[in-house]
Amino acid sequence: MATAYDVDPAGLAAILAGEPAYRVRQVWDGLYRRAVWPEDMTDLPARLREELGRQLPAALSPALERTADGGDTVKWLWELHDGARIETVLMLYPDRATVCVSTQAGCAMACQFCATGQAGFRRHLTVGEIVEQVARAAAAARPRRLGNVVLMGMGEPLANFDRVWPAVLRMVRDMGISARHVTVSTVGVVPGIRRLAASGVPVNLAVSLHAANDRLRDRLVPINRRYPLDVLVDACAEHVERTGRRLSFEWALIAGVNDGAADAAELAAIAGPLRAHVNLIPLNPTPGYPVRGSAPAVVREFRDRLLGLGVNATVRSTRGVEIDAACGQLAARAASSPAAGPGNAAAGDPGSADRGADEGAHGSVLSVAKGKRNAQQAHRIGAQTRVP
Ligand code: SAH
Repeated sequence: MATAYDVDPAGLAAILAGEPAYRVRQVWDGLYRRAVWPEDMTDLPARLREELGRQLPAALSPALERTADGGDTVKWLWELHDGARIETVLMLYPDRATVCVSTQAGCAMACQFCATGQAGFRRHLTVGEIVEQVARAAAAARPRRLGNVVLMGMGEPLANFDRVWPAVLRMVRDMGISARHVTVSTVGVVPGIRRLAASGVPVNLAVSLHAANDRLRDRLVPINRRYPLDVLVDACAEHVERTGRRLSFEWALIAGVNDGAADAAELAAIAGPLRAHVNLIPLNPTPGYPVRGSAPAVVREFRDRLLGLGVNATVRSTRGVEIDAACGQLAARAASSPAAGPGNAAAGDPGSADRGADEGAHGSVLSVAKGKRNAQQAHRIGAQTRVP
């Protein structure tokens, strides 16, 4: 059975056959504009609510929900029908909210330092599984408006383009989220970047660069062997030209690996001509790649070097540090599987392009001493709910 957010308008019309024609729009708006479940659509007759509740089930079952930052960061671990687990992180600000969503269960990109990559690929998420993460976040964000979506959770969005793109269109066309506040983060899947550029929908593009020479990038981000830097830079330029959106580069600072003066110079040579914004994220160590993130002083120095070279760069502020809001951590913890490993992705809020800031990080776990940190977390977690 298709889940609520997997059904398309024709499917919904089929489910509502025999009902007045306006019901299709009414239920669709309830799901997308108002983010309410059919059971809670009080503008429908009770029998229909009940019937729709059966026919339009949820795709996501909460396995774990945690909050941090005084309730301003919420992280969910969802279980899917086949037992796969994915994460969603909601970041609340006084006047708005940003959600970071997953696009795949696991990931096939095998980036050395990423816990999701270390755990491997399980499957693509469906359109409904992606959209429902946004709807759940919108409901939880109330009364704030969920204004920003970053596709920066588990998985590589552009490796699942055929489901990710229809999901983005539903966010933009049906949920009222501006394309300018949707950010697709990619490891550099060039054909996907070109499809984005040609789409005519001006979403933001964030590219996880991490290295600005092919030798190092081949190692850190293996997809670079297929789409090396010159090809990637061309595709980025095309996106900037065709959409007019600012490009951002993610750069996880890894001690002694990509945090030196020469690295900053190479990065500036790529970012400068593209007028890209650079998001610096101190690496969050993972078991499969036990190298430290750069020390705070090195991070500042690296940022200052970039600024000195005329590149717009910010250090991502952290959110959800106490709850391992870095993608991969919660799933790993709950599954207690060593293969899943703790912690990886530092996602943020490059949807803030319009604000020129870059506050919304959820993942940058600065600490290296994991064990010690976890002990501290036990005291710091504001609320931790285990949902049956
Ligand atoms: N696959 C997409 C989106 C998910 S990863 C992409 O690569 O962009 C989201 C971001 O977290 C990426 O920039 C990724 O490089 C970064 N990331 C992954 N593991 C990390 C780690 N251990 N420390 C810091 N950032 C990490």
